[in-house]
Amino acid sequence: MGHYDGVILRRLLVLVLAGTLAAACGGDTRDPTGASPRGSAVGCDAKGVDFAGDVELARCLTERFWARRFQASGSTYAPISDFVAYNGEDGPDCGREPSVPNNAFYCPSGHFIAYDAAWLEGMYDRMGDGAVYLVIPHEFGHAVQAQLVNDFRFSVQRELQADCYAGATLSGLIQEQALQADAGDDAELLANLEAAGDPTDAWWTPDAHGTAAQRQASFAKGFAQGVGAC
Ligand SMILES: [Zn+2]
Repeated sequence: MGHYDGVILRRLLVLVLAGTLAAACGGDTRDPTGASPRGSAVGCDAKGVDFAGDVELARCLTERFWARRFQASGSTYAPISDFVAYNGEDGPDCGREPSVPNNAFYCPSGHFIAYDAAWLEGMYDRMGDGAVYLVIPHEFGHAVQAQLVNDFRFSVQRELQADCYAGATLSGLIQEQALQADAGDDAELLANLEAAGDPTDAWWTPDAHGTAAQRQASFAKGFAQGVGAC
């Protein structure tokens, strides 16, 4: 399920969003005056100025995004029970399945998300804060799936929907100005997603995430059309 997401997301993120997203509500780190905070991120107090701040902000903004959408449809979003940073081998088990290094995952039995902090921070350092704003919304996509009536026959369907949800979350946060994207970011993002995905089209395998084309199409659909299209 959420396991081994990192294998794919790492490939995806190498090519995507090199520092292109700025968390606007904490002030833009590239703005020396710090004069551009946006007021729309009420309730998410973390400052997106460093790794820890961006991780907390991505969690808060993503959960707020979903809480509002659940509310709009007459239901209630259940926040995750825990958000666990681990390092290498010391992550939490999910059921009887041990966590693995260099990964992020959603655990349905505990309704929590865990991430290898050194791995995620490494991507953050190499590629910029966009890494955090893709990995975390993807995992929250799985947390949302767990609250909906979805019966996926194949893992790839679950993974592609999580990509779609991540795209919808990202564009939703940009639209509500909680995040700001540099000019051309979305085109660059979508173009580069083409290079992501499983190397084969073995969609029946348990951990399949989908081919590059499938992942790009799914993310792009969510980004362009929103949650309802996922
Ligand atoms: Zn996943």
